[in-house]
Amino acid sequence: MSTRQRVLGACRTLGLFALARRLTSGGLRIFCYHGISLDDEHAFQPKLFMRADTFRSRMELLASQGYVVMTLDDALAALDQNRLPPFATVITFDDGWLGTGTQAAPILAQLGFSSTLYVTTHEVVEEVPVLSVALAYLLWRGRTGRIDLGTWFPDEPTHSLSSALQREQLAERLKLRLRNEARSGVLAALERIAGQVGVDWPLFERSSMMRLMTSSQLASLEEQGMSLELHTHTHRMPSDERAAVEDEIRKNRDVLVPIAKRELCHFCYPSGEYDPRHFEWLRALGIRSATTCKAGFTYRNTERMALPRFLDGQNISTVEFEAELSGFLEIMRRLRGLIASRAAPAH
Ligand SMILES: [Zn+2]
Repeated sequence: MSTRQRVLGACRTLGLFALARRLTSGGLRIFCYHGISLDDEHAFQPKLFMRADTFRSRMELLASQGYVVMTLDDALAALDQNRLPPFATVITFDDGWLGTGTQAAPILAQLGFSSTLYVTTHEVVEEVPVLSVALAYLLWRGRTGRIDLGTWFPDEPTHSLSSALQREQLAERLKLRLRNEARSGVLAALERIAGQVGVDWPLFERSSMMRLMTSSQLASLEEQGMSLELHTHTHRMPSDERAAVEDEIRKNRDVLVPIAKRELCHFCYPSGEYDPRHFEWLRALGIRSATTCKAGFTYRNTERMALPRFLDGQNISTVEFEAELSGFLEIMRRLRGLIASRAAPAH
């Protein structure tokens, strides 16, 4: 257990979480999840993937402590009208990973929780694994050995895969080499790498690991109360190219609107990276809210084009999650902000 976890545990025992919960009951809590593991993905990237049983325990905590889970659209409308219920909470998922549908959705349905799912659509249309993550995962699976890509790329030497940095750099180079390949070329390349790192490719493909959901899977989730929303087509949001941003969102909408069968007006910045210049661009596209990956609660006066969210993952312990959920960490952030503003020189 880390020092941070021990300190937070002591604060909980002293009743500070319960106090924070009362003080912050009027703030909207927005949580962000990515993938739920189908196998060992949480060991590979614990910020990106969570075990299904961890996700279940989080949701059961929300239910047992009386948090009011709402869709983002309902919560923002309630905030506008000054009628947000106490302990209002929104659950969001990014990207559209298969495990969101097969693992998380049944847990949410059992508890009667609605949620919001921001979908990036290129891999949905192409029906290929998410290349950057699939490459990184396969190299991670081979982390105790070496890989020889020489017959394929003569300028790539034999690599040891034991260093995380070298794996990351190799995955990035391979992604660049493969970015213009057609679907069959991408799958052939991944199969070749899988063979080199000892991953059973037919089994990997049958499990649909590192894949997003198909259009029909997304459509069935929308019917179950998981609202589909926008996340760009290729997970890209340039801050200096308005036309490229418009193109990303238009393509994203072209795929998702026929699936959701309604207009889509909520957006999530890919990788949480945003620029204040985006706000006006998004508003002009009819977008009413945009979420980031910066922790914080949402209030009536929070900028709608930069809504904060807490990123939950397998790397977050139960006590850290409870500290966020209760509002204890929110109060700490506000105190830190207050101290920083007092310490800043006056202009
Ligand atoms: Zn994303």
